[in-house]
Amino acid sequence: MCGHQVMVSQKAHILTEGPKKGANLLILCPSCHTIFDTHIKPKENQALLDAGVENMPKSWEKSIYQQAAEASKLARTKSSST
Ligand SMILES: [Zn+2]
Repeated sequence: MCGHQVMVSQKAHILTEGPKKGANLLILCPSCHTIFDTHIKPKENQALLDAGVENMPKSWEKSIYQQAAEASKLARTKSSST
């Protein structure tokens, strides 16, 4: 996305719950991958919801940081209750 040619490229999944190949993949530099997952997906999700689009992908609702924080919190809750 940024136009920088880097030695390390990463496969970004447009839909986390979608296929791990083909049109669901973007090859991005690490910076663009992070921006895509943390900013673009949640912003596009909200813009499309605001435009009346329904049934948006679950993985677009929150940034990966929010998802990771919630998963950690859930894991701590589970381990403290056992
Ligand atoms: Zn980039």
